[in-house]
Amino acid sequence: MVRYATQTDVQTREAVDMTKYCNLSTSYIPDVQHPNATPIRYVRVNFHIMQGANGEGNFNEVEGRRFVKELVEQSNIRWGSNQQMNLPVGNSTPVIPIPVRLVLQKDPITGDDAIYFHRDDTLGFWNRSLTKGPGSLSDRTVIDKYRTGGDSIINIFLMEHVPDSINSPTYGEAKLSGISFIHSVKIFSSYYQYTTVKYRDDGTPFTHDVFYLSKLLNHELGHCFNLNHTWNWDDGCDDTPKNPGCWRETGQSPCEGPISNNMMDYNWNQLAITPCQLGRMEQFFWKETGGARQFVIPYWCEYHPFDKVTVYRNETLEWNGGKDLWGDIEIREGASLTIRCIVSLPAQAKVIVKPGAKLIIDGGTLTNRCGDKFEGIEIWENKKTGEKGEVIISNNGTMENMVNIVEVQQ
Ligand SMILES: [Zn+2]
Repeated sequence: MVRYATQTDVQTREAVDMTKYCNLSTSYIPDVQHPNATPIRYVRVNFHIMQGANGEGNFNEVEGRRFVKELVEQSNIRWGSNQQMNLPVGNSTPVIPIPVRLVLQKDPITGDDAIYFHRDDTLGFWNRSLTKGPGSLSDRTVIDKYRTGGDSIINIFLMEHVPDSINSPTYGEAKLSGISFIHSVKIFSSYYQYTTVKYRDDGTPFTHDVFYLSKLLNHELGHCFNLNHTWNWDDGCDDTPKNPGCWRETGQSPCEGPISNNMMDYNWNQLAITPCQLGRMEQFFWKETGGARQFVIPYWCEYHPFDKVTVYRNETLEWNGGKDLWGDIEIREGASLTIRCIVSLPAQAKVIVKPGAKLIIDGGTLTNRCGDKFEGIEIWENKKTGEKGEVIISNNGTMENMVNIVEVQQ
């Protein structure tokens, strides 16, 4: 027999404050055994290529469009290639796939890729000798003037160092660098690094390729997603050790190696992200406000029947952090799922509780975060033995925004 739960299916227990679970970033570390419990966050981005008034000093329209599309691809290859941490030496820090990808937006008017070219001598370049005002590192006037998409898109500005300064001996090298704002990123010197031939110590010529240049974009986006530098201060994570901040192994102290390969250190590699860092990012995407949720395409508001979370037979699963699921939850025979924070299901999705399985809402909330209603909780019952799925509510757990309502008396 299969039916929706009613009041008689629900048991209740006493109340304890459970908010601590929702507030811990470690509660949001993706579970590799249940990837559908932490679906990929698809982040909207667009690009602005800042040229001089004559259209020079940066990529032209043809090169710029090719470069940006390649940059997004390479960035996504990086998001898809998490590496074992180099530090601490001998570590066994888990390598968890990173559930983040970038999506280059389309211009709403033209339908073309959202890559914009602006000719602006005053705002278009970074002059390192300025500490404030237009042209300085942290200047926001360029962002305020050109960014589009309101708060729903991360606007990425590809800027160069002031052209005259590059040739000046006192300015120094036109280094690749960047800065993050809440909804925007400035990346400096991609064009210079991509087009200028440099020489290694042994005399070999080289230019930087797009894969290399994409690492700075991902590092800056890491800041947008709540990650801090790791090498010289507490970044809120125990699995990112402090280190001397070496760019590469030099064979000499303190960079004799191995050196960090973490995305949030400065090094040539930047491919490793730790579980704690992933937890911080996912929590930041999950937060209703004050995080990075508004940049993510809300696929959790559409029902995806093939992205179900299955709690396998006799498995005990505890969700201490919040979730934005894309499909159903199925709790199989003898298994239990405990929910301690807010778990959102899309409209049409349901929780299936099979005979002998338990859904325990322990201070958490089962809901829909899209202004819709999810379908409800389906109780499955063995028609011979009468064994059925159980729903247990404790610590003021709640169920809301559902089509098949369960009244719970606490
Ligand atoms: Zn940084």
